[in-house]
Amino acid sequence: MKYIIVTGGVMSGLGKGITMASIGRLLKNRGYTIVPIKIDPYINIDAGTMNPYQHGEVYVLGDGTEVDLDLGHYERFMDVELGREHNITTGVIYAAVIERERKGEYLGQTVQIIPHVTNEIKARIRSVAAKPLQGLQGGGAEPHSGGAICLVEIGGTVGDIESMPFLEAVRQMQREEEDTDFLFVHVTLVPFTALNEQKTKPTQHSVKALRELGLQPDIIVCRSKKPLKEDVKEKIAMFCNVRKEAVISAPDTEDIYEVPLLLEKEGIAEYIMKKLQLAPLTEQQEWAQMVERRKESARGKKVCVAIVGKYAELEDSYLSIKEAIKHAATELGCRVELRWIEAEDLEGTDRLDSFFEEVQGILVPGGFGPRGVEGKIKAITYAREHEIPFLGLCFGFQLAVIEAARHIAHLPDAHSTEHCATPHPVIDLLEEQQGVDEMGGTMRLGDYEVFIRKDTLAERVYGKRKIVERHRHRYEVNPAYIEQIEREGVFFSGTDRSGTRMEILEIEGHPFFFATQFHPEFKSRPNKPSPPFKAFLKACLQKP
Ligand code: GLN
Repeated sequence: MKYIIVTGGVMSGLGKGITMASIGRLLKNRGYTIVPIKIDPYINIDAGTMNPYQHGEVYVLGDGTEVDLDLGHYERFMDVELGREHNITTGVIYAAVIERERKGEYLGQTVQIIPHVTNEIKARIRSVAAKPLQGLQGGGAEPHSGGAICLVEIGGTVGDIESMPFLEAVRQMQREEEDTDFLFVHVTLVPFTALNEQKTKPTQHSVKALRELGLQPDIIVCRSKKPLKEDVKEKIAMFCNVRKEAVISAPDTEDIYEVPLLLEKEGIAEYIMKKLQLAPLTEQQEWAQMVERRKESARGKKVCVAIVGKYAELEDSYLSIKEAIKHAATELGCRVELRWIEAEDLEGTDRLDSFFEEVQGILVPGGFGPRGVEGKIKAITYAREHEIPFLGLCFGFQLAVIEAARHIAHLPDAHSTEHCATPHPVIDLLEEQQGVDEMGGTMRLGDYEVFIRKDTLAERVYGKRKIVERHRHRYEVNPAYIEQIEREGVFFSGTDRSGTRMEILEIEGHPFFFATQFHPEFKSRPNKPSPPFKAFLKACLQKP
C-alpha cells in the first residue's frame, strides 16, 4: 500500500480538498485504485448535527453517514463510493480509545495521546486503506486489483492544536513504512503584495512549522491568484528543502474540474509516480474530454434557473446541487445562470413576476426549520401555474406536496408537523417514528431503493423502474392523505418497496414538475449527471 498525506498551511479555505481530489483523479487516470480518507480534527463524531452556516453543506454518503463536503469532492473527482470509515474525526478516535479503556484493554496502563491515540489513528488509516471500495452503481465491493494508493487529507491548518495527534501519527507511520511508499504533499498560500509581488514567507513559515513536527513535505502545492514565477519557485524550493520541480503552482481557476489538468501540466503526478516508484497501468483521457466539453458548453445556450432557498447568501450549503446542475449542463452543452432567491423575500409580496423574470426553471432544495417556508410554497405555486419547469428536492418535495394539498386538494391549512400543529398534517412523522426524538437519531439516511410507476415522467427520467438514491430526512408524506392529494394530474410516481413512503411527486400535463423525497444531487458525477437534473435542465432549455 502506498500513502500520500495531504496537509495544509497558512490558512483554511485554500482548496486542500480539491487539491487532494485532483491528485486522486490523476492517479486514477493512470489505472490505480484510490482510497481517499478525510481526517477532521473536530470532536463531533460526524457532521450531521453541524450548522451549514458554519460548515457548508452536509454531504451524505451511500451508507448514510453525514460528512464534510470534501468527501463530495472526492466522490465526484475520483468517481468512487465512500463510507463511514473514510471520514475519521477526533471524536471517532477518542470514542474508540475510551471504549477500549473502559473494557480494560489497555491492561492498567496510563492511556495517553502517544502511543494510544496515535496507535488508534494509524490502525484505522491502515485498515481503511486495505478495505475494498464499493463500486458506484452498487456493484458490490471490488477488491484492489493492480495497485492501490491511499490518500489522506488532514483537515485544518498545520499548527492547530487539534490536528497535532494526527500529524504525529503520520510521522510515526512514515518511519514504519518504506520510503517509496510514503509521500507528503503540503498545500500553502502564496499571496501578492499591493505591488503585485509574490511572497513566499507564509509558505516558509508553515513548512517550518511542519518540519518542527518532524515532517518534511515532498511536494508543496502553492495556491495563488496567478501562476508562480520561476524565481519564486526556486526560492520556495531552497527555503523549504524540496526540489524545484516539486514546487507546484496552483493558480485560481474558474472551473474546479480543470484543477487536475493544471496540476498535471505542473508535473505533480509524474513526480509522485517517480517518488513512489509506480508505473502507469493505463492512460485514461475521459477527464480531459469532459473538461473540453465543459468549455464548449460555456459557449452554449444560456439557461436561467432560480434556486429558492434559505441560505441563499451562503451558496456553499447547496454545493452538491450546484455541481449536479453543472454536470447536467456539460452533457447538454448549455450554460446555466443561477439566480439565488431568498425564500423569505417572496413572503411579503404578490409581485413574484419580478423575481422570476426570464427564469426558465425553479428549484426548491432541501431544508430544515420554518423560516422561508411560505416563500418556497409561493415559488412552487408560481412554477405550477406558470408552467415553469420545477425540481423539488427533499424539503422541496414535501412543500410541493403541501402546495398541492392546499391549492388542488382544497386543504388550505395543510402543513408539515415539523413546523406547527395543523388539522391537516400532510407531512408528518410516520407512526413508527413517533416518540423517538433525539437529534441526529431518527433521520432516514443514505441509500434506499425507490420503485417507479410504469409510464410516468419518473420512468422516462431514469429509464428504469428501480433506482437507488440517497436520503436525508425525518418527515414523510402522511399515508392518510395520499388519496386526497392524488387528483387533477398530481400523483406519486415513486415509492419505497412497501409502497407506504412516497418518494417522487409529479404533475401530468405540466411541462416538467418533478419532486423527490431523496437527494439525487449526491450521486451526480461530472461525467455521469444525475437523471433528474439532466431532465430538468432539458425541460428548462425547451422553455421559451
Ligand atoms: N426537514 C425535512 C425533514 O426532515 C426535509 C429535510 C431535507 O430537506 N433534507 O424531513
